[in-house]
Amino acid sequence: MKYDVIIIGAGPGGIFSAYELVRLDPQLKVAVFEAGHALDKRHCPIDGEKIKTCIGCKSCSIMSGFGGAGAFSDGKYNITNDFGGTLYEYIGKKHALELMQYVDEINMRYGGEGTKLYSTAGSRFKTLCIQNDLHLLDASVRHLGTDINFIVLENLYAELKDKVDFFFDTPVQAVRVVDGGYEIDCKQGTYCCTDCIISVGRSGSKWMETVCKDLDIPTESTRVDIGVRVELPAEVFAHLTDELYESKIVYRTEKYGDRVRTFCMNPKGAVVNENTNGIITVNGHSYEDPAKQTKNTNFALLVAKHFSEPFKDSNGYGESIARLSNMLGGGVIVQRFGDLIRGQRSTPKRIEEAFITPTLSATPGDLSLVLPKRILDGIIEMIYALDKVAPGTANDDTLLYGVEVKFYNMEVAVNEQLESRHKGLYIIGDGSGITHSLSHASASGVHVARSIVAK
Ligand SMILES: Cc1cc2nc3c(=O)[nH]c(=O)nc-3n(C[C@H](O)[C@H](O)[C@H](O)COP(=O)(O)OP(=O)(O)OC[C@H]3O[C@@H](n4cnc5c(N)ncnc54)[C@H](O)[C@@H]3O)c2cc1C
Repeated sequence: MKYDVIIIGAGPGGIFSAYELVRLDPQLKVAVFEAGHALDKRHCPIDGEKIKTCIGCKSCSIMSGFGGAGAFSDGKYNITNDFGGTLYEYIGKKHALELMQYVDEINMRYGGEGTKLYSTAGSRFKTLCIQNDLHLLDASVRHLGTDINFIVLENLYAELKDKVDFFFDTPVQAVRVVDGGYEIDCKQGTYCCTDCIISVGRSGSKWMETVCKDLDIPTESTRVDIGVRVELPAEVFAHLTDELYESKIVYRTEKYGDRVRTFCMNPKGAVVNENTNGIITVNGHSYEDPAKQTKNTNFALLVAKHFSEPFKDSNGYGESIARLSNMLGGGVIVQRFGDLIRGQRSTPKRIEEAFITPTLSATPGDLSLVLPKRILDGIIEMIYALDKVAPGTANDDTLLYGVEVKFYNMEVAVNEQLESRHKGLYIIGDGSGITHSLSHASASGVHVARSIVAK
């Protein structure tokens, strides 16, 4: 079977590539191969009652399937070059922002209309943060919410399904360079194409490594972010989240000069498990629908670790720490901030007696046995710093879930078209190591689609 373009991965990067390709040239024959299920078949078995923790499904519905890792996410599209990826380094800041705005327009057209666009520009919190040695990053944030995000995906699929061939539950095993294009192998057989877009996200990171090795594409892996997810009563951060929804706040620790930052803030949200290549870490999301909201707000506190020669496996380092928490807690560990400070483990009784109800069933334990001292010290310092702008953050009952690891895919060598050293082989989205967010991944998809059509 011969296609003009084959897209590997149906996350935001893959979806927006497909959308833009057929919009610009309806004659193009495009196929999307996706390891996970179709959107209506995606279902995480954790129901909080019969199944409380991750059972390691063959295809993780949180990470894989139409919509990619973003399908059950909070649907926060951060329109900014300040975080979420380094796409601007390849295509320029202005163009990157324009593409993110274009993605936002499409999301609005396909079900997101009426959702709120928050902005940090000129916010009084910026001043409050600076006065307390904290730095609020600039961004516009479109918050779709998990429910509306899902509707947008349903509508995008309805738009694309008759124009593009979708192959679900079809992991691609290999990509080969052949005369005039590429051949891809999967269980069902071999397919050919002139151009190939690889957009396999974080869940495809291991596979991406083998592709780069096989096709001799240079890569680099030097960064991993490690930390915890903080959960506290929604009132503590309400003055920030009501106005800004998501605030990215950066702090430089006094002790080591490390940077600690807030990440993925979910007002009235829930903490969830995340399964990356069999390792259970923690994440969070929230709903736009008030009926589904909780009484808690959660966000991650992450410390960025950059490694230099000779160490090259930053993700391996993050995985080892996550494995340690899985070994001690059978999954994610939860600890009260007060217990951590007093050097004692949290017990089920101490968690039960707290004035906050955890939204994730995790194992009460001791995070100091898991996280390296330097990282833990940084997190504790930042919690006290945040307490100055959001009093109550450093409360004894504040819950810390660990570990949260932000794996960065190795950065793949591509040019300004996001094309690898092989002509017509594009590597985009989180799988390229260039993006780490819905808006940047989607924008990278639009960018390559336009390059291919222009070609
Ligand atoms: C719980 C959660 C919440 C999040 N919340 C937010 C948020 O609010 N805002 C934000 O900006 N970002 C958020 N993120 C991150 C965001 O989802 C990702 O940055 C984004 O989805 C990346 O898009 P992508 O297309 O590059 O990759 P992905 O979305 O990861 O999609 C890649 C797809 O490729 C498929 N695949 C992998 N290997 C193969 C293969 N060999 N063959 C075929 N298919 C393959 C996978 O199954 C997957 O569906 C969240 C992530 C999670 C897990």
